[in-house]
Amino acid sequence: MLAYIGLGSNLNNPKEQIKNALIALNEVEDVTVTSLSSLYQSKPIDHSNQPDYLNAVCQVNTHLTALELLRVCQLIEINQHRVREKKWGARTIDLDIILYGKQVVASKELVIPHPEMMNRAFVLIPLKEIEPDLNVPILGPIDKLIERIQDQELIKL
Ligand code: ATP
Ligand code: CA
Ligand code: CA
Repeated sequence: MLAYIGLGSNLNNPKEQIKNALIALNEVEDVTVTSLSSLYQSKPIDHSNQPDYLNAVCQVNTHLTALELLRVCQLIEINQHRVREKKWGARTIDLDIILYGKQVVASKELVIPHPEMMNRAFVLIPLKEIEPDLNVPILGPIDKLIERIQDQELIKL
């Protein structure tokens, strides 16, 4: 199964945080990081007074289920000392499952496609970079989605 994971960080050396999360992901048995976007810089989505974010999207190849992959992501967040403060607050690392093959999931714990992906340039632009012809389940062609978020500021590093 090919899945796409969004990575974000705005604390404690974000570049290093993202690099370490990718290494940790790739070290998990049966998870291989097969593609990686450029790094992007974005403003906090709640417009609050916290540092800018670094974002990237990676593709992984895995036989883990979507829920198992979520557990892996959560464990990496814990290992990188993510502290859960308020919603959308600053964090060392955030790993979101954006897509899991063509699968649609809607459980209490896990929603795929990620429920906010269509609203976020920092997800859609890096995703298109590694998957230019992607057709997103439910949501449609990536190019159409990107048309809607043209106004969002995003800096490619
Ligand atoms: P957002 O979801 O808007 O990006 P966030 O990443 O800051 O916000 P978290 O606190 O990291 O939110 O996650 C809250 C919960 O979201 C997690 O406990 C997890 O169960 C749930 N969740 C639902 N769908 C997903 C998904 N596709 N990937 C990661 N977590 C998800
Ligand atoms: Ca998130
Ligand atoms: Ca998250």
